[in-house]
Amino acid sequence: MYDFNRFIDLLNKKVNTLDYAIDLVKEPFHIGKIVVEARDFSMPLVSIKSESISEKPIVVYSNENSVISFYSNKDGYSYTNEDIFDINLLLRLISLSIHTFVLTNKVREAEHLSYNTKLFNSHGYISKLVSMADTIDGRDYNSYYINLKGFGLINKLYGTDLANEAIIRYSQELKAFALDDEVVGHLGGDNFVAFIKRSRAEEFVNMISKVKVFVGRGKRKLEINLTSTIGYDEIKVKKIDYSSIISNPAMACQYARNTKKPVVKLTDELVEMVNSIKNIESTFDDEMQKGNFVVYYQPKFDILSGKIIGVEALSRWINNGQLVPPGMFVPILEKNGEIVRLDLFVLENLCKDIHNYRNMGHNIVPASCNLSRRDFEIEDLEKRVIDIIKKYNVKTEDIVIEVTETTNLEENERLAKFIDTMNQNGILTSVDDFGTGYSSLSVLRDFKVSEIKIDRSFINRDILDASDEIIIGSIINMANRLNISVICEGVENEKQAKFLVNLGCNKAQGYLYSKPVPKLEFEAMLQRIGTYHDEN
Ligand code: C2E
Ligand code: MG
Ligand code: MG
Repeated sequence: MYDFNRFIDLLNKKVNTLDYAIDLVKEPFHIGKIVVEARDFSMPLVSIKSESISEKPIVVYSNENSVISFYSNKDGYSYTNEDIFDINLLLRLISLSIHTFVLTNKVREAEHLSYNTKLFNSHGYISKLVSMADTIDGRDYNSYYINLKGFGLINKLYGTDLANEAIIRYSQELKAFALDDEVVGHLGGDNFVAFIKRSRAEEFVNMISKVKVFVGRGKRKLEINLTSTIGYDEIKVKKIDYSSIISNPAMACQYARNTKKPVVKLTDELVEMVNSIKNIESTFDDEMQKGNFVVYYQPKFDILSGKIIGVEALSRWINNGQLVPPGMFVPILEKNGEIVRLDLFVLENLCKDIHNYRNMGHNIVPASCNLSRRDFEIEDLEKRVIDIIKKYNVKTEDIVIEVTETTNLEENERLAKFIDTMNQNGILTSVDDFGTGYSSLSVLRDFKVSEIKIDRSFINRDILDASDEIIIGSIINMANRLNISVICEGVENEKQAKFLVNLGCNKAQGYLYSKPVPKLEFEAMLQRIGTYHDEN
């Protein structure tokens, strides 16, 4: 019998870290003719070869640099059956201890760290902040909530593995940025939090707004640009309120997402707005009656002549004197099905305005309004749209209905039917946010629409490079060849406008020309700038 009781005792009592297990046998340990020792191998082995002892040394377990091995201290010694039995027993004991350790550690880690990225999870993030409480002043800090833009699409395009890797790389950038008295965390998915010194706010936002990461290996190595939507809160008290340290910037981030803004700061007005928006489900009817929903107009321009060629009607909600953008209430109304009321209300207002404007003897440009996907659940949607247009004696060619693409087959069939009926009645249709769905190209083939509106995400980039040129260029080309008119939304500067003209698209809508404005302002603009009719 070999005397390895001492070793087993040590294992049972003291092995609470992997390094310690290796430490235990750092000094060669003799069991009869067998030697147990840990050696530096400088290679990461994690295998446990407990069955094979014919090759020497036997690797039991290793961390990054060390292995525990067994070998005979006598040259030419061949193991007896008894040796083999004992060694196997030992190996099992060691491996059991190590597994137990690894497992306990994992559990401990999981409580505080995000599994994937090893950044703090929400629990760890708050625990860390609590541990810093005595040494910091909250007023020196901003708390952030960060969501990656379009991460769903990245998942679809590159697959879950590469998308996860992108998240890990992004986390590493976050972690590298944070100083010792700052904290970053990963709440899961594409949501992150950060507690950063206010003096470094600008630097932080610049860094995090756009992070370039490389994923995959070898030839499959890909560059992915991750852009963020950021909500933040400037902490105003010395002692941090842990209950709102995540939810406050989260509210600002949600607002930023809904209104498609890159960075939003939490303000008292924002909190008030968000809280009252929550009630829209119950107050919608009332608010409609009170005339608190209004229509804004955003003109569409011919880039070359600078004339107005069309206009889009966009809804706004005046809530306690504040103008609420549709991104905040449209999704809620879409959920509860009230959206169709709002959409037909916008159409009706638009038709009323066109009617009055024509009566005043002015030139008209085609005017569009938006329909939500949920509207198509209404059986007689077509009739209701046409009835409104007829009611105000509006020429059908003056109206454009903007619809969005969908991946759902049934929805597509319904949409195709709607477009057909509009076509039969001479009403133009346009595909809004073109390119953001996954079925864009088949949209061109399957739907007989008159126009596509290229989504602003295509043009809204710092640098428009060769691949943008190819992508946007081929969309424009294809549409032109199919006799579908193309307009690009979200044009904010001359460079983008020029870029479009060079690719054969002369129609644009965006802040470069005008934001959405109230009716009277739009009418003044029509008078001042003139429409394409004035040229002919
Ligand atoms: P959309 O139909 O794609 O409308 C264009 C949105 O882009 C408008 O936001 C407009 O203000 C904004 N925009 C225009 N030019 C620029 C630009 O140069 N840069 C940037 N960053 N943004 C620009 P808005 O009015 O907040 O509307 C957001 C979305 O809400 C609309 O997107 C539309 O999908 C929806 N929406 C608005 N009104 C209605 C409505 O009455 N019914 C339905 N169903 N949806 C609506
Ligand atoms: Mg639209
Ligand atoms: Mg759009």
